[in-house]
Amino acid sequence: MELYDKIKEIADNDGVEFMGVADLSPARSFIQEYAQDLLDEYPIAITLGIRLIDDVVDQLPHREERFAAVNYLNTYEVTNQRLDTVSYKISNLLQKEGYHVLPIPASERCDDERIAAVFSHKLAAHLAGIGWIGKSCLLISPEAGPRARWITVLTNAPLETTGTPMEESCGECNRCVEVCPVNAFTGKEFRADEPREIRYDARKCEQYFEELEKAGEIPVCGLCIHVCPHGKK
Ligand code: SF4
Ligand code: SF4
Repeated sequence: MELYDKIKEIADNDGVEFMGVADLSPARSFIQEYAQDLLDEYPIAITLGIRLIDDVVDQLPHREERFAAVNYLNTYEVTNQRLDTVSYKISNLLQKEGYHVLPIPASERCDDERIAAVFSHKLAAHLAGIGWIGKSCLLISPEAGPRARWITVLTNAPLETTGTPMEESCGECNRCVEVCPVNAFTGKEFRADEPREIRYDARKCEQYFEELEKAGEIPVCGLCIHVCPHGKK
């Protein structure tokens, strides 16, 4: 069995719905400064995605009700845990086959100032041809819209790439920009050569969550996910 097929088998068995392979070298200039060194050792990204539970996402407008908020948090965390587990299974396989491999956790911030992870899972999925980065700065796939969680396994295994970056298809839509309670999005379309800050003020979102917590509420929002017309059933 080819290496790709072995990886796909693990992913399929663990219920992964989206899988792709990206060559990271074209992204070198805009991958965050501290992650660029990773590319010398790990030029390939395997991207894996699992769709969130739609009915739970659909309850987000009622998130002030405890049940809706807890259920969303749970869906988010369980999906991240499932992705972490499958990425480790794939990493062990690649290691056994003699390659270098670096699994990037599904949700682990490493830069408090920029509020960002060591590597953008969305960018890897975009480069693998799975979707585009929307005005909400989320990965929008034609099948699930922004209703999925993503994880990345970096490696030097010689895998074929699965696609090229998908064209941005937000068009005239501005729903995520308009629904955000703290105006965290500027409405600018994604451009690979521009920093995220031009499109999204992550601090505003973070502060909103902190305010919810201070007010004794469960810190859940996700309206930018809920409102997107892509991936809605
Ligand atoms: S989660 Fe809510 S507050 Fe944060 S960016 Fe999305 S809509 Fe805005
Ligand atoms: S809500 Fe509209 S503008 Fe925002 S990401 Fe989805 S399609 Fe793009």
